[in-house]
Order: sequence, then structure tokens, then C-alpha cells
Amino acid sequence: MRYQRQIQFAGLGEEGQAKLGRARVVQAGCGGLGSTLAQCMVRAGVGKLTIIDQDTADITNLHRQFLFDEADVRKKARKAVAAAEKLKNADSGVEVVGIATELSSSNADRLLSGHDLVLDGTDNMETRYIINDWCVKNNIPWIYGGVVGATGVTMVVLPGKGPCLRCLHPETETDESAASVEALGIINTVPAFIALLQATEAMKLLINSPDLILDLRITDLWSGDYQRISVKQDPQCLCCGG
Ligand SMILES: [Zn+2]
Repeated sequence: MRYQRQIQFAGLGEEGQAKLGRARVVQAGCGGLGSTLAQCMVRAGVGKLTIIDQDTADITNLHRQFLFDEADVRKKARKAVAAAEKLKNADSGVEVVGIATELSSSNADRLLSGHDLVLDGTDNMETRYIINDWCVKNNIPWIYGGVVGATGVTMVVLPGKGPCLRCLHPETETDESAASVEALGIINTVPAFIALLQATEAMKLLINSPDLILDLRITDLWSGDYQRISVKQDPQCLCCGG
């Protein structure tokens, strides 16, 4: 009964729901993007969701990080742990694991192994390159998401079948986007919107839907501009090229 309305949707169906139920998803980061990603994955009925985030809830998070509230800020709750606790109440049939640590190149193998999909809920390029390189090496798909101001981007990375993050941004970038959120601010609709795009592609990917979108999508919610760009795999790419 729980998933009945979702199963009724033609793109998903009984078979799709069964596939979701067997899926193991890990998300790096549980902030603005991650709050919505985690909600969507658990409520859609994936088999397992692992949430990795080392941060504690902060008052400046609350306007856009919909999983957390003032009590979490007072308790200085670890976001990964608090998120897992809340989401267990949303669907006790989903295995939700919160890991309060920072994803790094040295622990990526241990933390990401055993999952079918990696979701990007991070706020910095350094961690995205770690995710990208690990996923390409291990042939695991991941879904890039980035937000600042009123703008967001997302792209599905399907190793061997399309471009990777380094095809798109060849140079290692500094912690630009995190600095930008502090400098330029962010409105709360943007991370929610981009996370919804990511979560939709996640569902398609996990059920092997032919409707999966591999294009880069860039959205400015304030101006209302939407772009969908086909990115080519770079044969010279340091990560996925020959
Ligand atoms: Zn590449």
C-alpha cells in the first residue's frame, strides 16, 4: 500500500518498485541537496541509503536544509546521524545508515563500496573529484549536483557510457562553490529543485529506465532560464579517457 501511487505510475510499475527495493544508494553530504535527496530516496523505497556527512546542524542551514530544525541546532546534532534517525520514522522498511565523517580519497573505498549509486550532496569540487574518480574506476554511476545563488547544475555520470566530471571540468578546482554559497548566498528553492532532478534520475537509473537523461542541466530559478546541454566524453580526459 505504501508505494501504491508510485507503482501506478507507468514509468515505474511493480517491477521498477521491486528494483528500487533492492537498490543500495549512498549520498555524500546531507545539506541543502542532501536533505531532499535523502527524503526522496527513503520515501521512494530504496533498499538501503547510506548518508555521509561530518557536519553538525547550524542555524544558517535551516532555511534550506529541510530535514533539520532548531532542536538539532541546539543539540549540535551530527547531520548524518540526525537525518538517519528522522528517516527511519519515514519508512522503517528502509535500511538507513548515517556516517558522521568526511568522505576522502583514503576512505572512499570503504564508504562507497557495496552501493549501486552515489549521489552528490556535497558543496565542494574537491569531494566531487574524489567521487568521480572512484566511480569511474569502479564502474559505479553517480549524479552530480551543485548549487549557488539561484543557480543549480546536475548531470548523471555513467562510467563507460558518457562523460565524467573531469570531461566537463578538466582542472581541479578549489573549494569555489562552498565559498560562493557563503559569499553569494542561496535561496532555498534551488537545492530542493536540483535534488529533485537528481532523485528523479536516480530512480530511472536504479530501474534501468530508457528515459535516463545524461545531459548537463543548468537552471536559474530566479531568471527562469533552463539549459540542457549534451556533453561529449573527452578522449583526453585524465580520468575516463584512453
Ligand atoms: Zn572524463
